[in-house]
Amino acid sequence: EAGPEVVAPEHADIAALLPTPGPESDKYRRGVVGVAAGSERYPGAAVLAVSAALRGGAGAVRYLGPPAEAVLARHPEVLVGHGRVQAWVVGPGLDDADEGRERLAAVLADDVPTVVDADALALFRDALPADRRAPLILTPHAGEAARLLGVDREEVEARRLWAVRELASRFGATTLLKGSTTLVTVPPTEGPPPPVIANPTGTPWLATAGTGDVLAGLIGSLLAAGLAPGEAATAGAYLHGLAARLCPEPPVASDVAAALPAARRLIAEPDPG
Ligand code: AMP
Ligand code: MG
Repeated sequence: EAGPEVVAPEHADIAALLPTPGPESDKYRRGVVGVAAGSERYPGAAVLAVSAALRGGAGAVRYLGPPAEAVLARHPEVLVGHGRVQAWVVGPGLDDADEGRERLAAVLADDVPTVVDADALALFRDALPADRRAPLILTPHAGEAARLLGVDREEVEARRLWAVRELASRFGATTLLKGSTTLVTVPPTEGPPPPVIANPTGTPWLATAGTGDVLAGLIGSLLAAGLAPGEAATAGAYLHGLAARLCPEPPVASDVAAALPAARRLIAEPDPG
């Protein structure tokens, strides 16, 4: 059997996916993204995911979680508590205490596209309502992927194309496998197997605490704006890598979130020549 087609997007491919507001826009049409992240133990992950959701272009971000003061101190524009959203991000810094599990269950009960990251990856299967229809986007690193697949981390590292496709088909979820080359694929349907998208913009400088939280928030904002799950994951990985490259070295995760607007501007520029 031939391997999957592996494709790498370019600036123009991503620019074509990104919505820009027009005269008819309002904050709700631009997309409200809910972020259920952070905990008393990991308040910073909430701040990072929310920052990236805002800088990803959401019309509004709704935050669900206990370290709301930390989030509001940094981002007074955030809405707090339950309410309607077009997409959710759940997991960054959510610990597996009862409160975190309850928050995860509340998010999954809301049948809208949802990014499942970090601790939520270990918990979501037991919390999924049987009648849920809306898409999930899983964003594991190799260790999280190994746990989901029931294999060693080394096996995921050695067979990354297999791992991303296996996760997508086993869980029926768009899957983004993080790493030095981040891979994205959507669940198989009838017809030819979906391609695997290999993100070309990554940089080893991303190997620093909190960058995964930024990626999750960013993808959530793109989902809320109406991108399809595979598009949101692809564009998110692309802009995330580009933003890191635009930062003074060494970047920290909050710099990457702050550089997202510059990354978006860069890909929107027509090619010179
Ligand atoms: P997390 O593991 O959730 O903290 O996310 C880490 C982020 O950094 C992901 O977007 C990874 O793809 C990225 N990353 C980690 N290590 C590397 C590396 N060596 N080269 C490029 N990107 C990396
Ligand atoms: Mg992470």
